[in-house]
Amino acid sequence: MSRYWSDIVHRLTPYVPGEQPALAHPVKLNTNENPYPPSPAVVSAIRNELGEHAESLRRYPDPTARALRETVAAHHHLNADQVFAGNGSDEVLATVFQALLKHDKPILFPDITYSFYPTYARLYDVAYRTIALDDAFKIRIDDYTQSNGGILFPNPNAPTGHALPLSDIKRVVASNPDSVVVVDEAYVDFGAQSAISLIGQYPNLLVVHTTSKSRSLAGMRVGFAFGDAALIDALNRVKDSFNSYPLDRLAQAAATAAYMDDAWFGDCTEKVIASRERLTAQLTALGFDVVPSSANFLFARHAGYDAATLAARLKEKEIFVRHFKAPRIDQHLRISIGTDAECDTLVNALKEIVG
Ligand SMILES: *Cc1c(COP(=O)(O)O)cnc(C)c1O
Repeated sequence: MSRYWSDIVHRLTPYVPGEQPALAHPVKLNTNENPYPPSPAVVSAIRNELGEHAESLRRYPDPTARALRETVAAHHHLNADQVFAGNGSDEVLATVFQALLKHDKPILFPDITYSFYPTYARLYDVAYRTIALDDAFKIRIDDYTQSNGGILFPNPNAPTGHALPLSDIKRVVASNPDSVVVVDEAYVDFGAQSAISLIGQYPNLLVVHTTSKSRSLAGMRVGFAFGDAALIDALNRVKDSFNSYPLDRLAQAAATAAYMDDAWFGDCTEKVIASRERLTAQLTALGFDVVPSSANFLFARHAGYDAATLAARLKEKEIFVRHFKAPRIDQHLRISIGTDAECDTLVNALKEIVG
């Protein structure tokens, strides 16, 4: 603490990301990174952008990331003016809070969800009300009809992995014509239906994507928002009042290439989904209750063992999983899907602990 701090700094509760251990070969199942590398086309695109003498780095990147937005727009059958690009979807979400979610009434999001949402709300002084998930950790969409200044939830939800069908998303969007409904689809490629197809019909729908999970580019920091051009315009107005160049040249080149290699993407995604089903069966056999997941992680608890203790015992073996000290979920672990070999290392360690 310091007398030089602004008021807002005193009031912040910063988000704590999952640990990035400084170990040679950790089994890292704590931040939902993809266990597979990005497409080789991504690596060539970065090399190509650098050229022989990295001459291009002398110049500022395209502030509008036009080539990237056009590629991603075509991929999703949208126009480029329906696409906003930012430095990771976290930055996109921060922009959304300022541009579209700060109104007189509180915004609504689930009590158990991505813990960055309350952090942004406090940073930008956005009032919010949390809505309890049901006992099976599902979003009850009928609870999202009360008066609100905006609605925000991930689909699939994090850290539960539960996905709503498109018909439910449509009902939430249709029943809230006076506020923006933001669907954070960070994990949609692992088994949920995207709401992007509804964008033409609903000017109040904004869908947020990231390249960090299904495109294996967490290290490049590239995320998107998709929606009606007027919503995207609002995001650009905030961006251009904050940082004109959120995406550097290498990130733009890398992400563009990632969207041009669908075969690689499809292959890695299928492998993750297969490993998820395999790990679900293995954990269930060990006595864990596993929430059915449509994402690249599992949310699981063991009735006989304290979750924080389990996480600590795994960490001793250099296996990292995520434990949240939060109401309702402090007996659960969130386990990212690794390669089958990494999942086997986890299962063998758990066998020693709980077996
Ligand atoms: C990982 C994650 C993000 C952030 O992704 P970045 O693009 O890496 O910033 C956003 N929302 C949810 C729900 C996530 O799990």
